[in-house]
Amino acid sequence: MQLAPVRSNLIRIDQRVGLPSSAVQALPAAAPFQTDSFEQSAQPISQAPVQPSEETSALLARALQLLVAIFAALAKGIPGLGGNDGAQAGADKAGKAGGKRNGNGKHKAEGKKANGKKADKVSDKELSGGKKVTGYVNGKPQKMTVFPVGNGEYLRDDAAKAFKAMQRAAKKDGIQLTPGSGFRTMEEQKKLYQAYLNGTGNLAAKPGYSNHQGGVAMDISNVGGYGTRTYQWLKENARRFGFVNDVSGEYWHWTYKR
Ligand SMILES: [Zn+2]
Repeated sequence: MQLAPVRSNLIRIDQRVGLPSSAVQALPAAAPFQTDSFEQSAQPISQAPVQPSEETSALLARALQLLVAIFAALAKGIPGLGGNDGAQAGADKAGKAGGKRNGNGKHKAEGKKANGKKADKVSDKELSGGKKVTGYVNGKPQKMTVFPVGNGEYLRDDAAKAFKAMQRAAKKDGIQLTPGSGFRTMEEQKKLYQAYLNGTGNLAAKPGYSNHQGGVAMDISNVGGYGTRTYQWLKENARRFGFVNDVSGEYWHWTYKR
């Protein structure tokens, strides 16, 4: 019969439970929760095999902590190499990978923003009339192609695409972004700098060192001030197109930083 051993086991368990019950009652209220120590003291023989397994689980716990720390570091995008920009790029890459992984089925959580961004995206085909120029980045000449973004102004290819996408998104919200001054040649920057030195022009960077000469800065001519709807829109949205207002006091100056 199969029942017999089960029954006898149950009886044995009953006995085991029954036996210490008087001892348990004698213990303080918290004692029943300290089952480990109670079991160990009640069954000293089982201590030998228990100890190594405790060591093993301690090691496993430590290993797990390390893994968690490593993943946390990876998720942040290995720090210390590129500063915030590097971390941001890492986050962007992670975001893109996430988007890819979600594949064809539309991801609800990201949904609205991602779709909106996609709709505003500007393809290579939409850029035309590019010209090859010599730009300057940190005083060093650099060959680049700049494209028109309206109003006779130009930006470096990637910045031009991003700016047009931003213009498109702004338009949907009833905001006009009018290009005032984009890419500048060395001659143009020299003139502006001289005017600044003469006291007849705005603050201008030393020739060779302006973001405008790198083809990534745009002065938006119709912002009108820090309190305007246009500025508010830029403050809330420019970043997602890669543009930041990086000159204090110049609400019109937006630099593409990607
Ligand atoms: Zn500017």
